[in-house]
Amino acid sequence: MAFIEDYRLDEIKNEVEEVAYKELETQLAKIPDEDICKCIDCVQDMACFALNQIKPRYTVSLLGSLYTRVETESLIEDISKVVASSIQKISQNPLHSKS
Ligand SMILES: [Zn+2]
Repeated sequence: MAFIEDYRLDEIKNEVEEVAYKELETQLAKIPDEDICKCIDCVQDMACFALNQIKPRYTVSLLGSLYTRVETESLIEDISKVVASSIQKISQNPLHSKS
C-alpha cells in the first residue's frame, strides 16, 4: 500500500502493547509451569484478552512516546490487574482441551 508507505504509517505504535507484554511475561514467570498451560495459543489468547480491555495509546514521535510513558506509568497498576485476570480467565478456560 503506497499510502501507508508514503506517510510511514507503519511507524505508529501502540505503546500499551509493550507494557502489557512485559507485565504478562513477569506474571507468567511467577506461575509454576505445571499450574497453567503456557502454550503459544494460550499466551496469545491472554495477550489479546488483556489488550482488548486496555485503552490503546498510539504514538509516533519521540515526544509523544515520552508523554505516553509518563501517562502509562500511572496505568501500570491497572494493566497489571487486567493481565492477572486475563491469565486466570484463559488458563481456566483454554480454547484447546485441558491436558
Ligand atoms: Zn494452552
